[in-house]
Amino acid sequence: MYQISPHSKPFVARGSRVDRCSECLLSTRVCICQFKVAYRSPVQFFLLMHHNESFKPTNTGRLIEDCIEGTRRFKWSRTEPCAELLAALSDPDLDPYIVFPEGDDYQERMVEFTPKAARKPVFIILDGTWRQARRMFRHSRYLQHLPVIQPKISGASSYKLRKAAVEGQLCTAEVAAAMLAQAGDHNGSEVLSSYFSIFNDHYKAARMSKPLDHDTSAKHLIKRYQNG
Ligand SMILES: [Zn+2]
Repeated sequence: MYQISPHSKPFVARGSRVDRCSECLLSTRVCICQFKVAYRSPVQFFLLMHHNESFKPTNTGRLIEDCIEGTRRFKWSRTEPCAELLAALSDPDLDPYIVFPEGDDYQERMVEFTPKAARKPVFIILDGTWRQARRMFRHSRYLQHLPVIQPKISGASSYKLRKAAVEGQLCTAEVAAAMLAQAGDHNGSEVLSSYFSIFNDHYKAARMSKPLDHDTSAKHLIKRYQNG
C-alpha cells in the first residue's frame, strides 16, 4: 500500500541474474536475513496481498513478516476471499481494522485506535501499489463491515526505491511501524523501522555497488533485540 510500482507487466527484477538470497530477495552480498527479529507485539498484522505484488524485491510487506511475530499473509481476491481470512476476521478474540487513508464516502467507518480488553488488535494492510490497494479496499465486500483506521504520518517517507504517487505516502513497512506506534507499541515500531532502514541501506549498497556499513544505529538496535 502507498507504493507505486513502475511495473505494470510481470516483474522482472533489474539484475535478476545476480545471485539472490531466496528469503530476502536481495543479492547475497547484501542479504539482510541475519537481522531478522522474532519480536512479540500485542498487535498483529494481516497482509492482504495483491497477486502482482508477491515476488518483487522492493515489496516491504515481507519486512513485517521478518520482524513481527504472528504476521499473516493472505492472497487477495475480489470475489473469493480465502477461507482462512474469513475465519480470522470472525474470531471473537481479535479486533480487526483496515489500515487505509480516510475518505469522504466512508467517514462513518473511520475510527481511532482504542484497546479493547481481551481482544488482540489486528491491522489489515493492503499490500500492493496504491492503485491496487484502492481497488482492494473498494471492491472487497467481505471487508466492508470493518472499521478503518488511518496511519498517523510524521515526516516524509524514507523509502526511495519506489516513487510515492503522492507526497507523504508511505510504503507498507512504514505504515506498519506507524500503526505499532499508534497502538502504543513503541518498541515494536522501533524494531520494524530499524529493520526497514537496514533493508534500505543494503538495497542501496547493492544498487550502487558500495560497501556495507556494519556500524549503523539500526544494526545495533536490532542486535539488542535479538539478544533479548
Ligand atoms: Zn537474505
